[in-house]
Amino acid sequence: MRKIYETDSYIKEYETVVTASGKLDDGRYYVELDETIFFPEEGGQNADTGTLSILKKCDGPVADPTAKDIEKNIITEGNCIRLTGGIIRRGDAVNDDLIRYIVNKPVEAGSRVLCRLDWDDRYDRMQNHSGEHILTGVIHNRYGFDNVGFHLSDMGFVTLDLSGVLTYEQVIEAEKEANRAIYANMPIRDCYPTKDELKNIDYRSKIDIEGQVRLIVIGGMTDTSYSDCLDVCACCAPHVARTGEIGIIKVISVINWKGGIRISMLCGRRALEHINKEHDLLTETARSLSTEAVNVPAMVEQHKKEISELKYRVSEILKQTITDRIMNANGDEMRLVFVDGDYPADIMKDIYNTLTGKYYGYVGVFAGDDEHGYRYNAGSRDHDSRELAAGLKERFGAKGGGSPQMIQGRITASEEEIKEYFKL
Ligand SMILES: [Zn+2]
Repeated sequence: MRKIYETDSYIKEYETVVTASGKLDDGRYYVELDETIFFPEEGGQNADTGTLSILKKCDGPVADPTAKDIEKNIITEGNCIRLTGGIIRRGDAVNDDLIRYIVNKPVEAGSRVLCRLDWDDRYDRMQNHSGEHILTGVIHNRYGFDNVGFHLSDMGFVTLDLSGVLTYEQVIEAEKEANRAIYANMPIRDCYPTKDELKNIDYRSKIDIEGQVRLIVIGGMTDTSYSDCLDVCACCAPHVARTGEIGIIKVISVINWKGGIRISMLCGRRALEHINKEHDLLTETARSLSTEAVNVPAMVEQHKKEISELKYRVSEILKQTITDRIMNANGDEMRLVFVDGDYPADIMKDIYNTLTGKYYGYVGVFAGDDEHGYRYNAGSRDHDSRELAAGLKERFGAKGGGSPQMIQGRITASEEEIKEYFKL
């Protein structure tokens, strides 16, 4: 199987022949192609998708159709097959790689097909994969670390795992240099050195590769020297022809990961879409705060501070109101206090202390509602409160514990059920 995507990643349509077909163990149909423009799932990158259109049989030789034969190759109406993935079994120095493509309908071996790539998706992967090589190459040159894990799916961010730890600032410095490589519009080429030539080339590679090694070379002035290149890396995937096509490399986040770091990044169209989305969010937030985008962080901090002060003042007022009600209550009517929503822990405790100051026997304050349950402080000044915790756990599965003076925790029960239980 000739892998056209390796030597020309820009071919979007190609005619070839289905050399074998059948069903996989899981019931899905597959085809094998004589020549292919579809990259299979490999090295952390998703497989290409596209279509196969079955052509009417031609009389000429299959491998080298004449112009007359091609004219006859009209697509059979309605016979368009969706290609959704590719599984590769790596060959070695002797055997070629075997690629089986997953298709949604059975296809007869010997069928002549027109392959069409889902080009926008493929180009997006080319931008992101080439961008990853540049950023990793820059980091490798600066710090000597390697990419030990790479994932390029069609959703979310591209991730690369590095063998060493860098700070966020160091990664952003590398990002700047990587983007300068984009502005320089360097060539990106594939090379196929012999085993002997390979011994003298300093290149990045995650695994030992049997058979012919394919190198992706970024930058450099000549075809024979690699010393002035930005990056040389063994890779099987399609890449863009020049760094300028990547458009932008944007680091999204850096986290510690298995003794090194994981960088999430985006390139090209996907980076622009992400930046646009975040820009829209910031603009919308600024508009709702009636300020400029640049003032948003300080204003949010100011609002958070004000809300927290207001919350405290409100809860102080509520505490005073509840305390007054407890003190003025007749009989046992305020032995159990139920309040809506969330209350600060120190206010809950203060209310509880007011209750134990007034009542003998079990008392409690419950904050929340019947639907979501309650946080509680409960107990008694003349009984061991932990006995109450055991009872609440047994009856309601309540969580919590505490001291002989007071227990606290969370309970899922209605106000009515709790009041009923406390009558016991
Ligand atoms: Zn690669």
